[in-house]
Amino acid sequence: MSSGTLYDKVWDLHRVAELPGGSTQLFIGLHLIHEVTSPQAFAALEDKGLSVRCPERTVATVDHIVPTTSQARPFADPLAEEMLSTLERNCARHGITLHGLGSGRQGIVHVIAPELGLTQPGMTVACGDSHTSTHGAFGAIAFGIGTSQVRDVLASQSLAMNKLKVRRIWVENQLGSGFYANDLILHVSRTLGVKAGVGHAYEFAGPAIEALSMEERMTLCNMAIEGGARCGYVNPDQVTIDYLAGRPGVPSGEAWDRAVAWWRSLATDPDASFDDEVRFDAAAIAPTVTWGITPGQGIAVNEAVPTPEQLEPSERPIAEEAYRYMDLTPGQPIAGVPVDVCFIGSCTNGRLSDLQAAAAVARGRQVSAGIRAFVVPGSEQVARAAEAEGLDAVFRAAGFEWREPGCSMCLAMNPDRLEGRQISASSSNRNFKGRQGSASGRTLLMSPAMVAAAAVTGQVTDVRHLAALPATA
Ligand code: SF4
Repeated sequence: MSSGTLYDKVWDLHRVAELPGGSTQLFIGLHLIHEVTSPQAFAALEDKGLSVRCPERTVATVDHIVPTTSQARPFADPLAEEMLSTLERNCARHGITLHGLGSGRQGIVHVIAPELGLTQPGMTVACGDSHTSTHGAFGAIAFGIGTSQVRDVLASQSLAMNKLKVRRIWVENQLGSGFYANDLILHVSRTLGVKAGVGHAYEFAGPAIEALSMEERMTLCNMAIEGGARCGYVNPDQVTIDYLAGRPGVPSGEAWDRAVAWWRSLATDPDASFDDEVRFDAAAIAPTVTWGITPGQGIAVNEAVPTPEQLEPSERPIAEEAYRYMDLTPGQPIAGVPVDVCFIGSCTNGRLSDLQAAAAVARGRQVSAGIRAFVVPGSEQVARAAEAEGLDAVFRAAGFEWREPGCSMCLAMNPDRLEGRQISASSSNRNFKGRQGSASGRTLLMSPAMVAAAAVTGQVTDVRHLAALPATA
């Protein structure tokens, strides 16, 4: 294999043909589907009399529309019920494995594929959801795709793609206690802007990245898309291999040893060159919160909402829009902004370590009066593991609601929604206008620990200060 980046190696290994328009037909190793972006794709396939090319490489779950209170069938929302029924019919007809409700393996698509060991280094992964970049944490090249591309992958197990440039995001030092990958990636988005990654894959590397757990790496790669990158990845290493060992989807015995050797060989070579490189210092990053209407409008929790004069001229129009929409004043400290709803969950921050970090803050404290706070585990496995540790009891005792797994208020395609002008502290990934179910609702993105801190104080709070306060039990 030639020397190069992991991206180059994986691209070359999956190239099927060069297409007349200049793009490349790329083989897709793993196609993840869910109930929202697959029905029209299956219908288009059947209109043409085609079958699914590789059902054994296609895996389904249900996540976006599922209620997180009662998941009894039929759902109260007939449209949600119809979407799930359609997915069930399509999977049965085409021989596709569906990890349905109550199977023990259901959950958000970007949570279950890693935990089942389906996502592996060197793979190409596609899914009809923007945050498919999550799977890059394993050294996979993973793309979010639209419905017509879901159809294409179902029919051909391949995609027409243009090769990306590779930017290395090198992060020195290590994140301190109380800082998370969520803070790091919000800081990267804030520094580079939400369009900087257009046309790029982001390779995350350096001592701070190597020190991250797989769950933190998933948070990082999940949010690469919010900086404009088409995908993000981390080179596979011992942390990756330790995470995958023993999971249902990985080989065993000699095949495991061969797989591990193969995965290690895919890492970017020391002499590989990049289209460019940006360096960060993890030690200089504080807990980060968004104040505006894009994930790039973030600040450290101890900073103030930037004034127009502090921003580049090109950033001022969207900042003016954000001041009005968010009802925040330039120069106003973000700490102390009152919140109405606190949401812990999503494919960005709904894994066990996220719930552990939030529970450590919630333990022995009480959700502030008037705040609606809820925790939505990313998968059934996460829920059961958290319950085995007693985290559900910690949250319930603190006044949080403990829900069933799903996307929930990340996108609010289920009944979990903001109302009116409510403002949420959210561990999800997008703070766009209306993202959380109310056309005028407002979102402040932050880490799960920071959401828990907001829940028990009723306002945006630096979790480092809260940690110093005595818990009451
Ligand atoms: S949690 Fe949000 S971003 Fe993730 S798969 Fe669900 S809707 Fe998409």
